[in-house]
Amino acid sequence: MNLKIKLKEIKKGKLTAVKNVMTFSEKIATCEVKDLNIFLHLNEDAIEQAKEIDRRIKKGTAGKLAGLCFAVKSNISVKHMITTCASKVLEDYESGYNATVINKLLAEDAIILGMVNMDEFACGASGETSAFGPTKNPRNPELIPGGSSSGSAAAVAAGLCDFALGSDTGGSIRNPASHCGVTGLKPTYGAVSRYGLIDMTMSFDCIGPLTNSTEDAKLIFNVIKGQDNFDQTTKEEKPKLTKKGVIGLVNVKDFCSKEIVELIETKTKEIAEKNNWKIKKINLPLDIAIQTYYIIVYTEFFSATRKFDGRRFGKKIEEFAGPEVIRRIVGGSEITKAEHEGKYYREALKARNYIKQQFEKLFKEVDAIILPTVPRTPHKIGEKISVEDMYAYDIFTTPASIAGLPAISVPAGKTDNKDVGLQIIAPHFQEELIFKLAKDFE
Ligand code: GLN
Repeated sequence: MNLKIKLKEIKKGKLTAVKNVMTFSEKIATCEVKDLNIFLHLNEDAIEQAKEIDRRIKKGTAGKLAGLCFAVKSNISVKHMITTCASKVLEDYESGYNATVINKLLAEDAIILGMVNMDEFACGASGETSAFGPTKNPRNPELIPGGSSSGSAAAVAAGLCDFALGSDTGGSIRNPASHCGVTGLKPTYGAVSRYGLIDMTMSFDCIGPLTNSTEDAKLIFNVIKGQDNFDQTTKEEKPKLTKKGVIGLVNVKDFCSKEIVELIETKTKEIAEKNNWKIKKINLPLDIAIQTYYIIVYTEFFSATRKFDGRRFGKKIEEFAGPEVIRRIVGGSEITKAEHEGKYYREALKARNYIKQQFEKLFKEVDAIILPTVPRTPHKIGEKISVEDMYAYDIFTTPASIAGLPAISVPAGKTDNKDVGLQIIAPHFQEELIFKLAKDFE
């Protein structure tokens, strides 16, 4: 059910916050759902909190999201909840404070159901690198749900919450949204506060919603966005746009399965015709993007993990993390060695500027850019897949991350009976345009 309709029912007293929590909790407790391995920790106070919210609803003093229930990716701090980042390193780590996004949602009387599974420290594209076992795709439990916000996408797809929060560094909201057939928004870098997010790669990380529809994504984004004194990179902007009526459709056929290319092209043509938009075929520097992304990730992730030295937070990361995290730490320590004088990072920053400039040029000709979210459909859980192939999942999502642009993944249909997401990228702070276009695709 659309969240606006649900909120109306709650307001009218047809549904209570307590009942909403109970329905989700009962479903989460079933064996079938437990087997999907989505929730890592449940909020044991959810019912008590819902009772208090029901009182406020009756008094007419409740917030905008009163009674809605959400799941939180395990790298977003929630006071008194265990925030493990799906790692043995932080197995017992209890957050001492709320992330800004959590405070904003709680201030509007939304209720936390629990913390959900993810790739360890958000390093991964399949949901398989969690130290607590892979999450399964609710649409087909043999398949990966995508990652790294695997649990967030799966929780929405399985109907275990009204919405979920995820984080996206190079595709981690959009990729699992695509594989699980739900909607995932990566906001403009700086539109939503990162305060309280355990960073993966600071200069790319964004928090955003995973939902059942674009309308729901818009509702949640409007609550969590905004300037925050605890995160100096946040700001609010509304640059004016002149409408060109042109959609840029990215040429992806060298990087993508034929079926996905066809599905995305057909869907884009349909919508463009209906809305009188012209389509312009464009190119993005896709292969450069992925190389650039991983050099910056290795460098910044290495630096971000130095605090996990076993003294203050959790255990020593080098001793307790899984292979993908270790690969990035070893790689990051190598490329940042003093004798290299920062040359790899510097080159990557140059490439990052180049990619930003390419987008700026493109946005002089087109209003928004469309391409698939991921180049292939999900593989089977446990299937041997090379590091290069795993990294290649990110080829279409990393460009927007590198340029800090807003991007959404919406369900476009299926190929081979597996969900395929369509990605829309817009200029900075143009989330409204994204919502408008994305709605057409639903
Ligand atoms: N799959 C990408 C990576 O492993 C993206 C991860 C993310 O966005 N957190 O780096």
